[in-house]
Amino acid sequence: MAVLPIVKYPHPMLTTPAKEVMEITDDILELLDDMYETMVANDGIGIAAPQVNQSLRIALVEIDEETGLFEMINPQIIKTAGKTIDVEGCLSFPEIFGTVERADTIVLNYFDRNGDAYEVEAEDYLARVFQHELEHLEGKLFTDKIIQSILPEDLETYMEENIK
Ligand SMILES: [Zn+2]
Repeated sequence: MAVLPIVKYPHPMLTTPAKEVMEITDDILELLDDMYETMVANDGIGIAAPQVNQSLRIALVEIDEETGLFEMINPQIIKTAGKTIDVEGCLSFPEIFGTVERADTIVLNYFDRNGDAYEVEAEDYLARVFQHELEHLEGKLFTDKIIQSILPEDLETYMEENIK
């Protein structure tokens, strides 16, 4: 396993729609492992393949131990409901944080590393992270949706004031 360099804005890979994975090869399995190591090494809770300079529809999400790791190949959101606003950051924009409106609940499907199909319903922050990572696969970035920017040094205060 290896920690890969993170592609930072304005690298063109970040705004290029990613290609569908046609076959789960050894290279894809290695990429999944490397993406996980890269996400953890950067204290991330999600990572998409374009962020490690791979134009492939692959995304990983792990918000905590309880929900565990989602390794998603060719993921798709098939249902959304509700609206919610909360703060987001991105490994490709290390200094930028801001509030973004997202669907509150989503249903998505994807294939895992064994090629098995899954359908998952997610809500709250997990749903938010899925939406953020899947947008990377469309070449879309959260910075285009920021309602209120939050400086890195104000992040802790914002979190404390907005805990539900
Ligand atoms: Zn991101």
